[in-house]
Amino acid sequence: MRNLDEIVDEATALFNSIDDTAELEQVKARYLGKNGELTDLLKGLGKLSADQRPAAGLQINQAKDQLENLLKNRRLLLQEKKLEERLKEEALDVTMPGRGYGKGGLHPVTQTLNRIESIFHSIGYEVASGPEIEKDFYNFTALNIPENHPARAMHDTFYIENGDLLRTHTSPVQIHFMLENEPPVKLIAPGRVYRCDSDVTHTPMFHQVEGLWIDEQASFAALKGVLANFMACFFERDDLSVRFRPSFFPFTEPSAEMDISCVKCNGNGCRICSYTGWLEVLGCGMVHPNVLKHVDIDHEQYVGFAFGMGVERLAMLRYGVGDLRLFFENDLRFLKQFN
Ligand SMILES: [Zn+2]
Repeated sequence: MRNLDEIVDEATALFNSIDDTAELEQVKARYLGKNGELTDLLKGLGKLSADQRPAAGLQINQAKDQLENLLKNRRLLLQEKKLEERLKEEALDVTMPGRGYGKGGLHPVTQTLNRIESIFHSIGYEVASGPEIEKDFYNFTALNIPENHPARAMHDTFYIENGDLLRTHTSPVQIHFMLENEPPVKLIAPGRVYRCDSDVTHTPMFHQVEGLWIDEQASFAALKGVLANFMACFFERDDLSVRFRPSFFPFTEPSAEMDISCVKCNGNGCRICSYTGWLEVLGCGMVHPNVLKHVDIDHEQYVGFAFGMGVERLAMLRYGVGDLRLFFENDLRFLKQFN
């Protein structure tokens, strides 16, 4: 049997050399376990004579205590070491700049649409919507646009199967609405429209807001009042002048183009208004009796007015944007300026 001191020295050296807690417990078993060397020594005490036994027993138990203490300390040390390593690994550098999430915002065209809706909503107009893929009837026929009208030509309109088409204006929404609702009708219809067109001032898709008021008393004077008031609200200007020039649209009679005094130069003349002092902002007129006939509204009893405006055009004027295409290029440097 090995000498007690030898065993203790060997175990001490071994314990101190181990850096892994699981391994430490395995090695512990070799000395202090059920069949460990010290345990064997204790078991062997019986073979000693009665007078040798107490001293030998005391020695072995002291050695056992010594090793157990050593183990305890070693375990603690290893735990601390492990914790330290983990803290080092997971350390947060609070001086590092955060990753951050970009803040979203509404597109300037959406903001303009919201603004238009809220102004008309405040004077009792409800917001209506309709399909972007239309039947010929709603987009043309019911709006008094005859078969041979140039608007129906292939080069102006995106036709799809069965003669269906992408709506070229938001006016068909008034047809849907009047077929489903009894007058009086007071609505605006904002939405996307499509034309086979693409250059500096035209994009194949753009936004329009259609307005309609059908009532027994709707008059051209009321039309002028509503639209002049709208423009003053939209541009936040009390000093806007407006004028109406005679024009032609198949679905209104009489028809007019509405101009406002240039918001950039106050009517003095600048590049934006082509040095005329006026900006063309929308088309309007009294609803043509033929349109009312198509939706079974008595045109002797009811009259109405309608107007249509380009949303991008109004956004460009309000924000001073020079190129229509900027709205659809989705360059964040441009879009972020509106939020
Ligand atoms: Zn001007």
